[in-house]
Amino acid sequence: MPSCRRPLATFLTALGLAFASVAATAPLTAHAAAPLQKSQVPGYYRLNVGEIEVTALFDGVIQLDTKLLKHASEADIQKLLARMFVRGPKVQTAVNAYLVNSGGKLVLIDTGAAKLFGPSLGHILANLKAAGHQPEQIDAVLLTHLHGDHTNGLLLPDGKPAFPNAEVWAAQADADYWLSAEVTAKAPDAAKPFFRMAQAAVAPYQQAGKFKTFSAAQDILPGIRSLPTVGHTPGHTAYDIQSGGERLIVWGDLVHNASVQFAKPSVSIEFDVNQQQAIATRKAFFAQVAKDKTLVAGMHLAFPGIGHLRAEGKGYTWVPLEFAPLGE
Ligand SMILES: [Zn+2]
Repeated sequence: MPSCRRPLATFLTALGLAFASVAATAPLTAHAAAPLQKSQVPGYYRLNVGEIEVTALFDGVIQLDTKLLKHASEADIQKLLARMFVRGPKVQTAVNAYLVNSGGKLVLIDTGAAKLFGPSLGHILANLKAAGHQPEQIDAVLLTHLHGDHTNGLLLPDGKPAFPNAEVWAAQADADYWLSAEVTAKAPDAAKPFFRMAQAAVAPYQQAGKFKTFSAAQDILPGIRSLPTVGHTPGHTAYDIQSGGERLIVWGDLVHNASVQFAKPSVSIEFDVNQQQAIATRKAFFAQVAKDKTLVAGMHLAFPGIGHLRAEGKGYTWVPLEFAPLGE
């Protein structure tokens, strides 16, 4: 062992001397040469799936309390957070959307929360424009489900449609639940605002005859197929994008807390309308995409939220995609 220590000590001494010599010859100046920018870079990331161009768009972040997680002890949750260098109970959680340019159609999967969940969200339109597109160019919006952090971005602050030329698609089962006056009336008071948000978000599109629904797995647009993944909501849907032998599944809200739910897929969240169904769906989906090595994207995974799952023990490890040039 002593033979190992000597080189390290020598190295540290050399490093110390190097620092000392820099300090002696180049004193730190109080003024930076360039001003601080004080704002984040635009939130978009692009990749190709065969012939299809997909652009992840960042809406912002929300702080989700770990108290919302179900079916795990507080101690287990804290252990899993600490393992990922995350401190609870409020956990930074991204909100993402995905733009898909396929077969001559420009399609947006989910629209973010707009400003109804606070100022830390509502950046989809700005990031869409930064990515080189205009909202008028969107031909279709595909909703994974009708929760406000996915639908509120359908409207501008003045209540007009943010995507005036788009058809809006959602699962019939989600429309039957969130848009129903009867279900809304029976919902607990605390849940009623979520119903009203969904109803307000789709209203102008319904009035224009542009709100469409589907009832099962089906091809919605060229290269994009709906995959029922119910539980989080009655019609929760993933979208399967395939082209030229390549594939990306945008899975919506199968995960809300990456530190906890990849390691323990049996942990659900308060917002899951059917807890047991949401858990069963997540477990089955995780097993399938890990086995098939399918690239997946999630609305609440750290931006851009695209990567693979690796099975590990009783749980999974998230392997994010590396930033890469496009088509090289
Ligand atoms: Zn969500």
